[in-house]
Amino acid sequence: MEKIKCLIIGSGPAGYTAAIYAARAGLKPVLYTGSQPGGQLMITTEVENYPGYPDGRTGPEMMDDFRRQAERFGTDIRNEMIVRVDFSDPALHRAWSESGHEIHSPTVIIATGASAKWLGIPGEERLQNAGVSACAVCDGFFFRNQEVAVVGGGDTAAEESTYLAKICTKVHLLVRRDEMRASKIMQQRVLNTPNIQVHWNTEAEEVLGDQVVEGIRIVNNKTGERSELPVTGFFVAIGHQPNTSIFRDWLDLDESGYIVTTPGRTTTKIPGVFACGDAQDKIYRQAVTAAGTGCMAALDAERYLVQQGY
Ligand code: NDP
Repeated sequence: MEKIKCLIIGSGPAGYTAAIYAARAGLKPVLYTGSQPGGQLMITTEVENYPGYPDGRTGPEMMDDFRRQAERFGTDIRNEMIVRVDFSDPALHRAWSESGHEIHSPTVIIATGASAKWLGIPGEERLQNAGVSACAVCDGFFFRNQEVAVVGGGDTAAEESTYLAKICTKVHLLVRRDEMRASKIMQQRVLNTPNIQVHWNTEAEEVLGDQVVEGIRIVNNKTGERSELPVTGFFVAIGHQPNTSIFRDWLDLDESGYIVTTPGRTTTKIPGVFACGDAQDKIYRQAVTAAGTGCMAALDAERYLVQQGY
């Protein structure tokens, strides 16, 4: 068993920013990265909207910067998952890593983020890593000069489609409604790219293929008309779900699984437990807002420790 002052769970912009602030405040934070160190930005192409990077930066480069800044002030970063927590003792919260290491800490900052959602259609799971992907940046390279499909109507789907259009001969974008949710600038980029074909009111019903993706069956949900597209890559970009299941027994979660915090604060219903980033934010979900709430969580934790006499 190890006693610390501040445990941070998660390593996206929220977790690393909390670590920078907590470390500079002398809390000697221990940060568990989780299974995808760097979080969702590790599977993002250009980040053009993070202030301070006027020429853009790739997600992985940005997260490397965040990590090095957290380390510079003495954050103890561990490439492991926290798999269980126990918040029953209000004075000292307990957490266990996947290797069974037990940690006791008066403050816990939750920055576990969110993960990609899947459609749940036949063939999707079976052909993952064999043509089915949730990350164009990671896997687009494998579909050079081939025809692919992307599902979704948000900024992620728009970004993935334009990225793939530079590599692939043709991109089919399947949008389930007659409009996209994506921001206007991203929609314009999609509509101005000649080798992206948008299929409105269209859903994927099945991913076809034995060992690898050989096509998809689609249906127009207005006319009921079915057809097949001869794609070799199938990219799912339909949003995310928060990684909060290990906190379900202890904290209030909303109907989508996001941690409920006090409005305008990072406090949860358990004293000393704070939540930041996408794990508690279903509205903004930006790197910069995640970093902002990570800062807030560290300041809240620092003040809580002072109040508790640490
Ligand atoms: P969103 O939740 O914004 O969009 C999800 C999209 O997937 C919607 O169009 C939705 O359709 C569609 N969808 C959901 N479920 C299904 C389904 N079962 N079948 C078919 N379609 C489905 O998620 P994103 O990941 O796109 O974006 C998340 C956040 O990240 C947003 O705030 C976005 O602005 C931001 N972002 C910003 C970027 C940038 O600025 N460069 C890049 C990427 C993301 P419907 O609209 O009908 O609900």
